Amino acid sequence: MFNNLSDKLDKALHVLKGHGSITEVNVAETLKEVRRALLDADVNFKIAKQFTNKVKEKALGQNVLTTLQPGQLMVKIVKDELTELMGGDAEGINLSGNPSVILMSGLQGSGKTTFSGKLANYLKNKKTKKPLLVACDVYRPAAIDQLHVVGDQINVEVYSDKDNNDPVAIAKAGVAYAKANGFNVVIIDTAGRLAVDEAMMTEISNIHKAIQPQETLFVVDSMTGQDAVNTAKAFNDILNFDGVILTKLDGDTRGGAAISIKSVVNKPIKFIGTGEKMEAIDVFYPSRMADRILG
Ligand code: GDP
Repeated sequence: MFNNLSDKLDKALHVLKGHGSITEVNVAETLKEVRRALLDADVNFKIAKQFTNKVKEKALGQNVLTTLQPGQLMVKIVKDELTELMGGDAEGINLSGNPSVILMSGLQGSGKTTFSGKLANYLKNKKTKKPLLVACDVYRPAAIDQLHVVGDQINVEVYSDKDNNDPVAIAKAGVAYAKANGFNVVIIDTAGRLAVDEAMMTEISNIHKAIQPQETLFVVDSMTGQDAVNTAKAFNDILNFDGVILTKLDGDTRGGAAISIKSVVNKPIKFIGTGEKMEAIDVFYPSRMADRILG
């Protein structure tokens, strides 16, 4: 994960570690390299600049130039700032409703259906939760079948209605079915399109209004870099979602989405997807991710 970024940051900070005494020039040079590494990882230019400015401010504030181990202090400052940028403390999902309704949103192919299954499985394993999956993609019958395949794999019931082409009605019926049958979590998988368009936004917004979920999650493919951030912005404007799910972190992703998304939409990343299997789900901990990035 993020190998390229990790290597570059390591090299950037290595310069400082090698020096007995550190000058302002060394610090400036290091921060330039750090910024370059972030830009290469597809972090937005403004965010990368703000980031290095903050690190610089902190470094000078903490007298990095006169400390005994300036390299280590710089690494710590970079790590703390990275953690802050990615979200600070980890946040859970709101399961206060009965049933708790969780709405999944995102583009087609982002990993919504897969993640819906992963989340259902994750919650089911918590013993006190009995999840129901609801298939609201009325445009692609294959999407409904896919959710059934996922449901069978994890032994979770799937509510669908292939004769109904109104996603709002299906979502409502799914919640009613959950109430009537003792499910305490409802995960609603919705249709996405290949790019943000008005019809998709209107539809997801209508579902959102109709069912008033406790938790609205935005699922995004971490391989899509700055596009991921732009898509997140568009969905957040419409849905004011509660959290982000970053998928495909097992792939060759450069890291830009993970690093930038929180500060652009001001919503936490809650879970990550790290593979196609139902078990490939992890709670997102910004500090652990920063540790991983900095090696
Ligand atoms: P949806 O259109 O948003 O419902 O996306 P899908 O759940 O159908 O996922 C699209 C593709 O991405 C499928 O082939 C999934 O197996 C794959 N996928 C989803 N999440 C992950 C992940 O975390 N890692 C990897 N490697 N593949 C994933």
